[in-house]
Amino acid sequence: MKSEKGDSENSQEGKGDGSKSFEENDLTDTTEGQASGVNLLEKLREHFTGLFLGGFSSPEIFVAAPTRRPGEPKKPDSAPADGSESESEGQRASPLEGIRNFSMRPKDIRDYLQRFVIRQEEAKKVLAVTICDHYNHVRRCLAHPEELDRDYGKPNVLLLGPTGVGKTYLIRNLAKLLGVPFVKADATKFTETGYVGNDVEDMVRDLVRAANGDVELAQYGIIFIDEIDKIAASEAMGRDVSGRGVQVNLLKLMEDADVSCVAPNDITAQMSAMVTFGGRRHRKETISTRHILFIVSGAFDRLNEQVRRRSAAGAIGFGRRSLDDGEEGYLHLATTADFVQFGLEPEFIGRLPVRVACEQLRKKDLAQILTSSEGSILRQYEKDFEGYDIGLTISEEAIFAIAGLAEEEKTGARGLMTVLERLFRDFKFHLPSTDVRRLHITEEAVRNPAAALRDLLTDLSD
Ligand code: ADP
Repeated sequence: MKSEKGDSENSQEGKGDGSKSFEENDLTDTTEGQASGVNLLEKLREHFTGLFLGGFSSPEIFVAAPTRRPGEPKKPDSAPADGSESESEGQRASPLEGIRNFSMRPKDIRDYLQRFVIRQEEAKKVLAVTICDHYNHVRRCLAHPEELDRDYGKPNVLLLGPTGVGKTYLIRNLAKLLGVPFVKADATKFTETGYVGNDVEDMVRDLVRAANGDVELAQYGIIFIDEIDKIAASEAMGRDVSGRGVQVNLLKLMEDADVSCVAPNDITAQMSAMVTFGGRRHRKETISTRHILFIVSGAFDRLNEQVRRRSAAGAIGFGRRSLDDGEEGYLHLATTADFVQFGLEPEFIGRLPVRVACEQLRKKDLAQILTSSEGSILRQYEKDFEGYDIGLTISEEAIFAIAGLAEEEKTGARGLMTVLERLFRDFKFHLPSTDVRRLHITEEAVRNPAAALRDLLTDLSD
């Protein structure tokens, strides 16, 4: 475990205003011999800061805000309707404090997810239990370092399911609730070490960026890797060699690896690190992945078909249920052997002991997302119109019409964004320059937005 001093030093590293903290905090006590390092660093500063902050471009990163006081479980009903947290900044515990005092129960977590994510009940339950198990273990390790010597099988998660059904959304909300840094990466962007492209270790360094340079906090973060099915080592995928190599590299990270804080191919950062490490201040040079939770996800379309065929072949008893469930309901029946046949290395799939399938969203689910999810995209449109003093209302029939059109898009809840954008595009362009103060969307308006806008503007000129 690190000392308090070590914590505060690390928290300076790579802050949003990284250049300033380097000058003020790291170089104030340099020796003469290091003064040239100051100049060098000054020259490199802009470049370095850009590189450090720019980093690995593909992952989606945010710094999750701690959401509770230590030991206080989330009260699902107490939060404001817009999904923002009710505690003031002053009341918030630091993220590390939150981890040290982790005391949530699976139902607290499930209830929190319920506010944002529609359906996916099994995934919510499984994730809630996994998160509690993992962060209880982390809490124990922080309190009793001897726990680190015990065997611990990290509950890394494999989330299966079609696009746009809430896989990322579930994890993003989890990270927000926990107050831990979160990085999303795309497995297709990785290449084997030594090839041009992104190294899997970059994700870990990105976690430090997401933690505002706090290496210790980064060590308890969540890495979410999407499109994991695309690195299956199958000849059909055309990635038989490199897919396997990427899986092998990921294996090491998912278990327990020490990753250098500075990318080996980043010469400028290497030089800056040399200057910094040459100073008197101690810096943590590596990030341990031992407690980083890895959650990987993918649509696994081909696997779905593979399991469907297997189920159909023995369509009695166990397999029969899935056949009655409809087209996409087979991923929850996938076995380790299915994943291996699909092209995942046995060691790789073995590191993903928690597996859960998300369901396709139907029209009524999409309608519910619009009306009930605290993160509903409709709130965004209401806010957009509010910006021009225009009140937006929408009929129940219109909600269902939008949900129906979105379902036809076959992109899950992402279809809602497409349909709403098309629906509101011209209203958003024309109405702000008129005296219209209220926009009511009916089913007819959804079917024919141009006619509805024309009628509204005609009424105005009459
Ligand atoms: P994927 O399953 O491909 O990771 P995402 O989680 O990124 O899909 O979903 C895209 C967006 O759609 C989310 O940011 C969220 O706004 C919305 N969304 C998707 N699924 C759900 C759901 N089950 N409930 C509520 N909103 C959802």
